[in-house]
Amino acid sequence: MALPLPKPQVSSITPYVAGKSIEEIAAGYGVAPEDIVKLGSNENPYGPSLGAVEAIQKAASNVHVYPSYSMSALKKKLAVYAGTVPEKILPTAGMDGLVEDVLRAFVQDGDEVIITSPTFSYYAIASLACGANVVYVPREHFEIDTEGVLESATEKTKVVFVCSPNNPSGNITPSDTIAELATSLDAIVFVDEAYIEFAHGSALSELDEYDNVVVGRTLSKAFGLAGLRVGYGILPDAVMDACLRVATPFGLSSVAQAAAVRALDELDYMKECVSKIKRNRELLYDIPFTTYPSEANFVLVDVAPLSAKEACEELLKKGIIVRDCTSFEGLGSTYVRISVGTREQTERVVEAMKELYERAV
Ligand SMILES: *Cc1c(COP(=O)(O)O)cnc(C)c1O
Repeated sequence: MALPLPKPQVSSITPYVAGKSIEEIAAGYGVAPEDIVKLGSNENPYGPSLGAVEAIQKAASNVHVYPSYSMSALKKKLAVYAGTVPEKILPTAGMDGLVEDVLRAFVQDGDEVIITSPTFSYYAIASLACGANVVYVPREHFEIDTEGVLESATEKTKVVFVCSPNNPSGNITPSDTIAELATSLDAIVFVDEAYIEFAHGSALSELDEYDNVVVGRTLSKAFGLAGLRVGYGILPDAVMDACLRVATPFGLSSVAQAAAVRALDELDYMKECVSKIKRNRELLYDIPFTTYPSEANFVLVDVAPLSAKEACEELLKKGIIVRDCTSFEGLGSTYVRISVGTREQTERVVEAMKELYERAV
C-alpha cells in the first residue's frame, strides 16, 4: 500500500510565505512578546470593535448549531455597505475563499490565469492548484501593463487578477484600465479590493455594467477581523450561480457571521481606525530609503544597498517585524513592506529604519 502522488501541479507550487508571528520572534530573538511590533501582515493595529468582540462571545454559546446557509443578515449589511444589492453579494471564508471559488468554477487543467506581478501571491497558488498555467505580466513601475495583458491573453485565459490597491506596492489601478480589460477580454477580471478602505475610492460603482468583473473585498484589514476569515465578493449573476455550485456549504462560521454583522453596524469605529492609519501612514514616508506612495495600510520600501533579508534581520533584533518581499514574483531582493501601526509602533519602525540607513549608506 502506498500513498498516491499529489497532482503534478501541486509539487510545482511554491508554498505561501506568511508574515512572521510574535511567538516565533519572541522565541527566536529573545525579545519579550509585549515589546514586539508586528508590522508584517497589514493587520488593523487597533483591533476589532468592542461590539464585534461582544458578538463573538454571544455567538460562542451557540456553536453546536450550523451557521446560516443563506447568510441573509450578513448579505444585507454588506450590500448596504458596498452600495449594491444582497443578490450580488457572496460572503466567503476570507477573500482567499472567494479566489478559490472563482477559480474552482472557471478554471480547469491547461487553462490560463494572468497575474500582474509583483502582487499578492495566493492567486498563483490557488490557480496552480486548479491546474492553470500561470502567466505573469510584469507591471511597469507597478502600474498594470494593459497592452501586455491584452497581448498575453489567449482563448484559454479565464481569469486576470488585478489587485487595487496593489499588495505590495500600494498603488491603485484606475477604473478605466479595469474597464478596458473587461471590455477587451473574454475572461473574468478579478479586482481585489482588500485595502479599498484606505484608498481614495473604489472602482466598484463604475464596473457595475460588466458581466465579467468580480470585485473581492475583506473584513480582515480595515475591520480588524483577520483571525475570523470574513471576505466577500460582488459578483455578476452568472458568476454567482457558478460559485454557489462549487462553494463549501458552510464556509463562513456562525461566529464570523455574527462578528461581521456587528462590525458593519459599527462603521464609525472602522472609519476612525482608517483615519488614524492614514495619518500614521504619512510618518512612514520619513524613512530615508526609497518609499512608494501608498493607498493601502502599508508602504513598500526599497532598502538597497541592503538586501531585504539583511534589513528584516536587523529590525527583528529590535523586535520589529516587517515583510521581506523577496518571495514576491518579479520584485527582486531589496524590498520590504511595512504595515502602518499605531502612532507609537510606526514611530518606532521609522526610527529603526533611520538608524539602518545611517549605517548602510
Ligand atoms: C490580505 C489579503 C487578502 C486576503 O484576505 P482574507 O480575507 O484575509 O483572505 C486578499 N488579497 C490581498 C491583496 C491581501 O493582501
